[in-house]
Amino acid sequence: MKSADVLVIGGSAAGPTAGISSRRRYPDKSVVLIRKEEQVLVPCGIPYIFGTVGTPEKNLIPDALLEKNGIELVKGNVVTIDRGQKRVVLESGEEVGYDKLILATGSLPIDLPIPGLDKENVFIVKKDVAYLNNMLEVMNRVKDVVIIGGGFIGVEFAD
Ligand SMILES: Cc1cc2nc3c(=O)[nH]c(=O)nc-3n(C[C@H](O)[C@H](O)[C@H](O)COP(=O)(O)OP(=O)(O)OC[C@H]3O[C@@H](n4cnc5c(N)ncnc54)[C@H](O)[C@@H]3O)c2cc1C
Repeated sequence: MKSADVLVIGGSAAGPTAGISSRRRYPDKSVVLIRKEEQVLVPCGIPYIFGTVGTPEKNLIPDALLEKNGIELVKGNVVTIDRGQKRVVLESGEEVGYDKLILATGSLPIDLPIPGLDKENVFIVKKDVAYLNNMLEVMNRVKDVVIIGGGFIGVEFAD
């Protein structure tokens, strides 16, 4: 079983930052980071995929950032945390042991409790490369767009 002094779950904004901070503060400690995505998007750039950035692939956090800081990357979905035995279990069955565990598992957009969410051309802003590529393909051929949500993400999408 693979094992780390510090195990981070989450590979977006918080996870790598926690991992890099751990390595800088405790250079002798090993850090493993587990995330479920193949590739991680820069969340702040997502609205601009549909404008100046152009594609999800041009808006990725490079894995080299982890490598450069001596952080081992494991891709997979954590399904169990066993605090007694200080290990996590991935969907694949792989186990990773830890001394300290950091959860940087973030947030998901709310599925509004209204009918129609399942209809064609209704999208939720997800941090998911394949999903956004499909959304981009649709957006490139539709004429009228309605955005629900007037916070900064909604306004950036409108822009
Ligand atoms: C469209 C958009 C635009 C934004 N723009 C800005 C901005 O301009 N400025 C700003 O400050 N903030 C912005 N934000 C907010 C910012 O994206 C979030 O604050 C940030 O992403 C939070 O990072 P996080 O690492 O905590 O969580 P998340 O980004 O949600 O990442 C969670 C990570 O945990 C992983 N994970 C979760 N569960 C598991 C599991 N069981 N096993 C393995 N891995 C798991 C996920 O795969 C992911 O890697 C924006 C967000 C969005 C969606």
